[in-house]
Amino acid sequence: MNAPKPTKSLAGTACRECGEGHFEFIQIDHIEKISNDNPVTVPGVWVNRCDHCGETVFPAISVKYIQSSVADQPEPLTGQELERIREELGVDRQDEMSEILGLGTKTYHKWESGAQFPTLSISYYIRMLAEFPEAFEWLRARSWRGRNRLKTAEKSPLVIGAELMFPVLAANPGRLNTVMTSRINYAGVLFAKV
Ligand SMILES: [Zn+2]
Repeated sequence: MNAPKPTKSLAGTACRECGEGHFEFIQIDHIEKISNDNPVTVPGVWVNRCDHCGETVFPAISVKYIQSSVADQPEPLTGQELERIREELGVDRQDEMSEILGLGTKTYHKWESGAQFPTLSISYYIRMLAEFPEAFEWLRARSWRGRNRLKTAEKSPLVIGAELMFPVLAANPGRLNTVMTSRINYAGVLFAKV
């Protein structure tokens, strides 16, 4: 899809930022940093840019276009997706969700409100829990930051979680190990924060 062209522009208007240049109406390849490891380039976005200082003013339609382009990216979870997943998992409140996931409440709130995007790895972790509600329930029952903490003699939560999610693999420790070196490790990173 081509970027929509706004009907109005600031072309020729004096730039207040530097007081010397004038705005040009141009198309740029906009880079949106939606998470540290996953910048998204949105090509051909119409903007007003000062020919002297580079001050850039985004028309509303271009901002919308950037947002919808980012939302179409398959990888990082958007706020809407997070909200849907939380509701599907039967969690009413954001602070409860952050608690279960082992995340800071503020961090989780920023993600669900769309102010920030989670990293790819956290997105995989949450998607995985959404795919395996029984694993999510296990996490929830653990009341992670409460009194129920794991004793050192217990199995690593990463292993228990993986066994629970992949019972077939649990019968085959070698295969389980292979799987655990991939995306499930993200869960381990969070579990380690206990
Ligand atoms: Zn300027």
